[in-house]
Amino acid sequence: MNALERVIQDDYVITMKDIIYEGHKTLRLVAKEVKKPITSELLKFGEIMMTFLKNSQDQKMAEKLKLRGGVGLAAPQLNISKRVLAILISDEEKNIHFEEVMYNPKIIVHSVQEICLKDGEGCLSVKREILGFVPRYKRVTVKYINCNNEEQIIRLKDHKAIVLQHELDHLNGVLFFDHINKKDPWSIRKNLEILE
Ligand SMILES: [Zn+2]
Repeated sequence: MNALERVIQDDYVITMKDIIYEGHKTLRLVAKEVKKPITSELLKFGEIMMTFLKNSQDQKMAEKLKLRGGVGLAAPQLNISKRVLAILISDEEKNIHFEEVMYNPKIIVHSVQEICLKDGEGCLSVKREILGFVPRYKRVTVKYINCNNEEQIIRLKDHKAIVLQHELDHLNGVLFFDHINKKDPWSIRKNLEILE
């Protein structure tokens, strides 16, 4: 049974043991596009990825399943080299600000202006803390196929744009620390805004 077959079994719950870590070669591959229309197998996979994010943000479930909290997950992090990602952004009151599974996402337009999180980024596939600004585009327009097999084009900015770019990087074999300035991790280059 391969990784995809395993995680789409009925009642399967993704936990940290399904996640692969830096050093694993799948995290450095360019993932393959999925065929259109998206198969029911891959639609189910998307739902299961989203359930993982929901569990990881739910205090009780996260404790029970020993999950690290996450706002995004990309298929390669489960050793599945396909262009699928899930994003779930919510606040402390559990209001959901953005929830989407994306198949074959692609940035078709982006701003010149860059933005980064003030404390840098982390990743479920990276156990150590790596500090420094991770510059991202402040605004992106993304084209993808959604869970209803419809092509979508949406614009994202600020935090949502940052999360999208972090996850999209996973589909291209890129990890967040690849973007950190090695000599001066907290340097602020031109056009870089710091998101508080
Ligand atoms: Zn990551």
